[in-house]
Amino acid sequence: MDDVRRSLPAVDRVLAQPILQDSAAALGREFVKSRVRAALEHLRRGADVASGADAIAAAVSADLPDAPTSMRRVINATGVIIHTNLGRAPLSAAATAALTVAAGATDVELDLATGKRAPRGAAAIGALSEAAGGASAHVVNNGAAAIALACYVMAPGGNIVLSRGEMVEIGDGFRIPELIAATGVEIREVGTTNRTHLRDYLAAIDERTGFVLKIHPSNFHVDGFTSSVPVRVLAREAGVPVVADIGSGLLTPNPHLPLEPDARTALNDGAALVIASGDKLLGGPQAGLLLGEDDLIHRLRRHPLARALRVDKFTLAALEATLLGPPTPVARALDAHPPTAFSRAEQIAEAIGEPATSRTTHGAVGGGGAPGVELRSAAVVLPAELAVPLRTGRRPIVGRVSGGELLLDLLAVDPLDDAVIIEAVREVLG
Ligand SMILES: *Cc1c(COP(=O)(O)O)cnc(C)c1O
Repeated sequence: MDDVRRSLPAVDRVLAQPILQDSAAALGREFVKSRVRAALEHLRRGADVASGADAIAAAVSADLPDAPTSMRRVINATGVIIHTNLGRAPLSAAATAALTVAAGATDVELDLATGKRAPRGAAAIGALSEAAGGASAHVVNNGAAAIALACYVMAPGGNIVLSRGEMVEIGDGFRIPELIAATGVEIREVGTTNRTHLRDYLAAIDERTGFVLKIHPSNFHVDGFTSSVPVRVLAREAGVPVVADIGSGLLTPNPHLPLEPDARTALNDGAALVIASGDKLLGGPQAGLLLGEDDLIHRLRRHPLARALRVDKFTLAALEATLLGPPTPVARALDAHPPTAFSRAEQIAEAIGEPATSRTTHGAVGGGGAPGVELRSAAVVLPAELAVPLRTGRRPIVGRVSGGELLLDLLAVDPLDDAVIIEAVREVLG
């Protein structure tokens, strides 16, 4: 080990090899240097033979990405369409192209015809408003930011009323009630985990109540002796505004997900404000969507904290492209006909040969959407030992290991990536 350490070249000597010079110019010296450092660290820890500076430089060069980011493109073969650990909704090619346009100087806040300042992201906001049936719209950083802004604007120094059946933890330990408490607004919990009635709400509402909050239990499902009060009834009876956090971002009903709430229906049912995420079922960039009456949206937009929660030009560009462009990968996955996945899985397994087989599976929407809904899909079945090499390969593929097998579920895989899967599996099989 000591011998290996002593014989390894210095970082700068590897970096100075001709093969890395062009890359250092294109990707940045510091980025390439970090790769060299990692490669040397790797050799120091595991390798039993030391390599020369030129060999290490060649290996680093072969492994360099197209852009100086450590984030890797991953093929999502988990069978979960909106996978939180894989960045939730993948953007459509059209939305991705919009990001590139937005990257330079752009007219996000300028009217090119008059040369005067224009409302920021007006086209994206207009598209959102139209898609939601004409409600006014505002966009913030994410769903959590939208909830916080609603609390600051609609219940300052007061309380909101929330059912105990809707006290949701989003993930990574974040709990919506704690988020609300952090804004200084008091939460009046009403009802029980399984049952909350209109009379519970009415008993808790007082003159300091800013709104009743309805949170869609988006990542769990309570079955059995349950009851909750719909937005429609609360809007009619509560005497205070109703804010509906629908979570998923469906703007209109989706026939594949009949139990999933949508913005248009919630607004028609009388919600004063609808809150949703942009990167779940909408299939767009991370964003918090706020939809409601014109004067309420105006107040949300003008609150001093709105500036701290505002979205960048990339979000606005990708959101507009998501709303007006071709169907998103999320929509396409939901719409795919199961037989398509079956025949793709068969073809991939056939192309790989032994030991690959194919099988029908059940995938999920994921990302806190449509809990309990099983989507029919198909997978390529491989030995579980391949999970790690495929995940850590040149083009990472993340499947799911179940019952001692690795399933590469095609539900969320772009058909254009089928060939990449075949090649990667062949490579790890040797
Ligand atoms: C996902 C979710 C949130 C949080 O939205 P983010 O965009 O992740 O901040 C809030 N409420 C519900 C019901 C959700 O499903």
